[in-house]
Amino acid sequence: MPSDMSAPERRERAVRAAVEQGVVGPGTPLAGLLDITGIRASAAALRAAFDEVTPPGTPVLHAFAVKATPLVPVLRLLYAHGGIGAEVASPGELALARAAGVRPADTVLDSPAKTGAELREALALGVAVNADNLQELTRIDALVKSAAPAPSASPASPVGLRVNPQIGGGSIGALSTATATSKFGVALRDPGAREGVVRAYLDRPWMTRLHTHSGSQGLPLELMVRGVAAAYELAEEVNAAAGRRQIDTVDIGGGLPVDFASDTGTPTYADYARLLKRHVPGLLDGRYGLVTEFGRSLLAKHGTVLARVEYAKTSGGRPIAVTHAGVQIATRTVYAPESWPLRIAAYDAEGRPKPGPTVAQDVAGPACFAGDLLAENRPLPLLEQGDYAAVLDTGAYCMTAHYGYNSLGRAGIHGFTATAGGVRFGVVRPPQTFDEIVAESGGEHADALLDF
Ligand SMILES: *Cc1c(COP(=O)(O)O)cnc(C)c1O
Repeated sequence: MPSDMSAPERRERAVRAAVEQGVVGPGTPLAGLLDITGIRASAAALRAAFDEVTPPGTPVLHAFAVKATPLVPVLRLLYAHGGIGAEVASPGELALARAAGVRPADTVLDSPAKTGAELREALALGVAVNADNLQELTRIDALVKSAAPAPSASPASPVGLRVNPQIGGGSIGALSTATATSKFGVALRDPGAREGVVRAYLDRPWMTRLHTHSGSQGLPLELMVRGVAAAYELAEEVNAAAGRRQIDTVDIGGGLPVDFASDTGTPTYADYARLLKRHVPGLLDGRYGLVTEFGRSLLAKHGTVLARVEYAKTSGGRPIAVTHAGVQIATRTVYAPESWPLRIAAYDAEGRPKPGPTVAQDVAGPACFAGDLLAENRPLPLLEQGDYAAVLDTGAYCMTAHYGYNSLGRAGIHGFTATAGGVRFGVVRPPQTFDEIVAESGGEHADALLDF
C-alpha cells in the first residue's frame, strides 16, 4: 500500500473519516485508530537498519514485544508483511502469538516468573526461552532430562539466559531494567555472579543464547549500547571458556525510545544500529545471530485515540473538556504525567482540525477520580461540547493496556489506510460489550457469596 502522504496527513484524514463514517460519534464516543501504512513502514525500517549493519545471511530475528500492542491482527500484520516474530512474556501473550500464526521458531519467551507448566509448553513447542535466573535454569534442566533422558539430552528450543549488566537506569525508574537492584536477569556485577554465569553455560552445552534488555523509554541510546556491549563481552568470554562458539545468538532486547513531543520519529532504528556497529562491531560481524525485541518504537506513533467531548465546563476559571479518554487508555499518563506526557490535538464535531487561538485547559477522562486528566492546563484551541480530542502516539502501551477502573469498557480499535482514494477502516477489535464486562466481573457467580 504505497502512500506518499505523511503520517500527520494520514492521521488528519483518518480522524475526519472516522467521524464521517461513524467510527466515532455520540453513541461510540471513544475509539482507537491504527495507521497500517505507518506500522508497515516502521517494520521495514527496523529490518533495513539491521540489514545495513550485518553481513548478508546473518540470522536476525526481530521479535515484536507483544505487551506493547497485544492485538492478534497487529501481530499478524507484523509477521506476514514485516517478517517480525513475537516476544512474549506471559502465557496469554504466547496464546496471542500463536493465534496470529507466529511460528514457534519466530517466538521468544521472556518473563521473570515462568511456571514449570509454561516452560514445559514452550520447550515442547520449540519456542525460544530466555531464562531469567539460575533457579529457572535448574527447572529447565529437569524438563530437558525428563523429555530425553539420554546423557546428551538437549531441548529442541534455543535456550538463553538473561543477564543484567547493571549499567544504570534512565529517566524513568519504573522502566529501567539494568539498575543495580533490578528484578530482571542475573545481576552480572554482583560478587561471584559472572563466574556463576560462565559455569552455567559450561554445564549446559545446549545453552546457545544470551539475552539482555536494559529498559524501555527514557534510556539514552548510549546506555542501551553499553548494555549490549556488556552482553557481547560476556558471550565472548563464555565462548572462549567453552573453546567453541557455544553462544551463537545474542538477544539485545528492545527499548528504543520514542519521541512523544513531535512527529519526527527520532531516534531511528538506523541511528541505533549504526551506533551498535560503531561500538560493538564484533557482535555484528556475522559471527553471531541476533534477536531484537522492540515494542514501543514499532507501534506507538501509529496509534491515535479519538474521544468525543461529552461536556465542556469551567471550574475555578479553568476550562475543562470532559472526554471519554482517560485513565483506562493512558494509565501511565494519568498516574505519572511528568514521565508520560501525551500530545492532544483538537478537532471539531465534523472531525476537522480546530483553529486557534489556544486556551489553557484541562482534558479530562470519564473516570470518577479527580486525577483522571490526560492534560492539565494545556494550551489548545478551546474544546467544546461535541468536539473530539485526539490523543496521539497511543499505539503502544496505551489503548491496549486497558485499566478496568469504573468498569469502563475496552474501546474498539480500527486499522486504517488513507490514500487519495479515501480512508478505509477495518475492525481490529470491537468495543467490549456490557455482557462481557458483567461476565469478567463474576456475573456467572452472582450468588457465590450468599451461601456462607
Ligand atoms: C518490554 C520489553 C521489551 C520491549 O520494550 P520496548 O521499550 O517496548 O521496545 C523487550 N524485551 C523485554 C524483555 C521487555 O520486557
